[in-house]
Amino acid sequence: MKLSKGDRLKEKIIKREQLSGWLEELGKEYEMWAPVKEHGLVFFCPIESAKSIYFGFLNSKKTPKDLFFPQSEVLFSFLKDKVEKAAETILQKPRIIFAIRPCDAQSLALLDQVFDSEDYQDPYYVERRKGTLLMGMACTRPQASCFCTSVGGGPFEKAYLDLLVEDLGDGRYFVEAVTQRGEALMKKNDLFEDFQKKDRERLAKIKKEAEGRIKSKVTIEGLEEKLDKIFDSAFWDQVHQRCLGCAICTYLCSTCHCFALLDERDNSRVQRLRSWDSCMFPGFTLEASGHNPRISNRERMRQRVMHKFNYFVKRFGETACVGCGRCIQSCPVNIDIREIIEGIRNA
Ligand code: SF4
Ligand code: SF4
Repeated sequence: MKLSKGDRLKEKIIKREQLSGWLEELGKEYEMWAPVKEHGLVFFCPIESAKSIYFGFLNSKKTPKDLFFPQSEVLFSFLKDKVEKAAETILQKPRIIFAIRPCDAQSLALLDQVFDSEDYQDPYYVERRKGTLLMGMACTRPQASCFCTSVGGGPFEKAYLDLLVEDLGDGRYFVEAVTQRGEALMKKNDLFEDFQKKDRERLAKIKKEAEGRIKSKVTIEGLEEKLDKIFDSAFWDQVHQRCLGCAICTYLCSTCHCFALLDERDNSRVQRLRSWDSCMFPGFTLEASGHNPRISNRERMRQRVMHKFNYFVKRFGETACVGCGRCIQSCPVNIDIREIIEGIRNA
């Protein structure tokens, strides 16, 4: 449950070393996940000690969505007519993701609409979401590829978090509870200090500077309708030309959620696996007859864009993109979703 706006008791300051102590204390009760640097890249990993946390990260290479919707998982196994729930789908302990970025938290709210709707609840996803608290970290250094402010987010957006931590840049952090669950985490620590007026002013300046760093602006308004009009346009003949069909853009995307179901047999036991799939792969729509309705990268690229900016909007009223920029950073041939959006507007 969200806290009311007037509840100022939940805003506090904590020093860096005490933040580490608080996280370690929480680690006795929760499974802690945090950004860790490995081989020059940052990933969200389980941590035993706050010393492992890489505070200097911009954003993680992979989105933390796989903590809820793993890249591959056993849904269940069966032996003749006996079905067993997969043990690994049950959380052993409640979890905290520390330093998740606001854009990635927003993407989980979008995935909730797919996996936890009134019509359909995915029990694996729902259980993980319920058992996980999101302790966000505001972005003070957004990257050149970030455009969260164009798609309903922001580097200090707290709406989708339980708690937001903001770096004051002087060895102290501003901590703000957003939900009652976040407030309960704050109550487990008595080393907070009260914030002063000058702290709020400092924070406002940092926030303004961070927002100012986001130079990329895309216009989403009217995109859904425009996409309806250009479905058969020659625009799509050009936009896919460089695409290699590698699917990195979808695998790293915070909001992509297509999957395949596969049965793997080991003697008489069969496991049903769910694994990420991608609309950028030719086999994604290959039918048993051999017919493929999305025969080339042209149709596949169009599908990726239509899903994010048209179909998802029609179904859920929101764009399936949070502007994290991962697809821009990692596309091997520099295909840029911002340029595609601009191209659609001008098509
Ligand atoms: S990452 Fe780039 S090359 Fe690879 S499928 Fe996506 S758009 Fe195509
Ligand atoms: S489409 Fe690109 S920028 Fe948008 S959420 Fe996916 S990876 Fe991030």
